Amino acid sequence: MTLDFKRILITGGAGFIGSHVVDHFCAVFPASEIIVLDKMTYAADFRHIEGPLGQGRVQLIVGDICDYNLCRGLVANCELVIHCAAESHVDRSFHSSVLFTQTNVLGTHTMMEACRTAGVPRIIHVSTDEVYGEVLTGTCDEDCSLNPTNPYSASKAAAEMVVNGYTHSFKLPVIMLRANNVYGVRQFPEKLIPRCCLSLARGDKIPLHGDGRNERHYLAAQDLAVALEILARRGVIHEVYNVGSMEHYANSEIARLICDAFGKSFDENVVFIPDRPFNDRRYAISWDKISSLGWAPQRRLAQDIPQVAAWYRENADRLYKLMKRTDSL
Ligand code: NAD
Repeated sequence: MTLDFKRILITGGAGFIGSHVVDHFCAVFPASEIIVLDKMTYAADFRHIEGPLGQGRVQLIVGDICDYNLCRGLVANCELVIHCAAESHVDRSFHSSVLFTQTNVLGTHTMMEACRTAGVPRIIHVSTDEVYGEVLTGTCDEDCSLNPTNPYSASKAAAEMVVNGYTHSFKLPVIMLRANNVYGVRQFPEKLIPRCCLSLARGDKIPLHGDGRNERHYLAAQDLAVALEILARRGVIHEVYNVGSMEHYANSEIARLICDAFGKSFDENVVFIPDRPFNDRRYAISWDKISSLGWAPQRRLAQDIPQVAAWYRENADRLYKLMKRTDSL
């Protein structure tokens, strides 16, 4: 079944992933009215969506997903809600864990309640593979149990439980997406790839947690946006879909790729720093289910890194000031 949507709400659309979703949805749903609800936290930037905003393709509402009346007003007559807004950085969750529960759990609850009372016919909740916890061998499919290990992933798992309650009790038409690590331009430089790029762009060394052997899979933000389009058009309501890639790299390998992109030596430009309180060694998911809907990742991290690195080089001064302002350095 192929659907078109008159009105689409994207929460967190001025953040990293949300802004790529905005770009893609503007292109593939040209007749849809697209609204972004974003609190404009440190991770958001008007510039991320300045093209669609300037063209009048998107309306930006600055507000909080914990504000029921605001959410209820915005989802009225929406035919699709893509719920991306969240506090998303694991390291921050060790210091401000209550904020993570507030935004990710209460905010999701508030948004689901607004969708329920407004009768929104299709909702996609964006979650993370981190809800499965550490996966030392093999892969997790969608039926694996949740075993989050840090305040961020715990808040995302708790948000999923709220959604679960709504799908069972109220038959709320939600589809759940669990994505592995995502890369691309516009990601706040507290996460590994942008942080490495910004460090080298500023002539600093790359700080690597622990021994640098922790491994992550990486999915391009554009590929995730396509997955969301496919789920919007033909995802099965109440199902969970893993969305991942075969691109797995140890943190030190990522640092090496980025050193190469900057023409700098790894040995002279990487410094190892103490690890997080707890750092999952590996996550791994299988995504056969969404493959059966015709989705597969198209992009390769190694090919994209030079272009991502160039974007951080061009934006280095602005991002460095932002990092200082948000105490992220
Ligand atoms: P991000 O931190 O770059 O962006 C989050 C956005 O949500 C920002 O624009 C922020 O202003 C907004 N926001 C935060 N609190 C809000 C609130 N109370 N009300 C309204 N807006 C609020 O995060 P991201 O990396 O783009 O992640 C987007 C989603 O994808 C999140 O749900 C995250 O858990 C999930 N996810 C991210 C990754 C990844 O690697 N980045 C991987 C898997 C899943």
